[in-house]
Amino acid sequence: MHTYRDTYKHKGLRNQLVALLKVKGITDPDVLKAISELPRHFFLPDDFESHAYEDKAFPIGEDQTISQPYTVAYQTELLDIKPGNKVLEIGTGSGYQAAVLLMCGARVFSIERHKKLSDRAVRTLKNALPADLLSGLSLFIGDGTRGLKDKAPYDRIIVTAGAPSVPKALLAQLVIGGILVIPVGEKVQRMVRITKVSEKDIKTELFDDFNFVPLVGENGWKV
Ligand code: SAM
Repeated sequence: MHTYRDTYKHKGLRNQLVALLKVKGITDPDVLKAISELPRHFFLPDDFESHAYEDKAFPIGEDQTISQPYTVAYQTELLDIKPGNKVLEIGTGSGYQAAVLLMCGARVFSIERHKKLSDRAVRTLKNALPADLLSGLSLFIGDGTRGLKDKAPYDRIIVTAGAPSVPKALLAQLVIGGILVIPVGEKVQRMVRITKVSEKDIKTELFDDFNFVPLVGENGWKV
């Protein structure tokens, strides 16, 4: 049974984490505020509680991880969320990234291929966020490499697992002017930001290298 208790000690550790993220180059005030308020230790197995505010990825079961806070901050900053943006997240995992997106003012549709992780994320998020924020979240189970056509189009799409290439299905589900942030590559992944300029044209920007668990599915890596 997980204990959901947020103390001054946790808050102090979060402030130290935010200071570190600033040193590493994160500047978006909404992202920094979200990370300073969100109890990341709720999203980790109890054994890792004392490590929750280290800038590291940790196992969450099913061979998957909660991303490093720097990676979450980096991807969210690249997304450039505007209040009310409709965001599709591929890879709910622990639910932490979805919570950061909600706290930045987005409405979030998040899809996860492991039901067990999605079920746990529901429980965690109910404990971590107030009901008004949670009302902006919808969770799905399935192969996110196909996107989520029923709810499309999206202002923003974030992929939180490493892809072999950019799935066309995701580009098709973006609005014109919409932004997709996706790590692409095999051993290391280059962070790619794609802006859909028109129905036919995209602008591609390349950023730093990261290490993600693989995006597995029809338009991703094969199991
Ligand atoms: N955003 C997560 C968080 O905040 O904890 C990070 C999750 S982890 C780095 C990536 C997640 O993507 C894993 O939970 C994995 O199961 C999921 N995933 C991989 N391929 C997927 C796919 N095709 N559709 C949906 N989820 C997928």
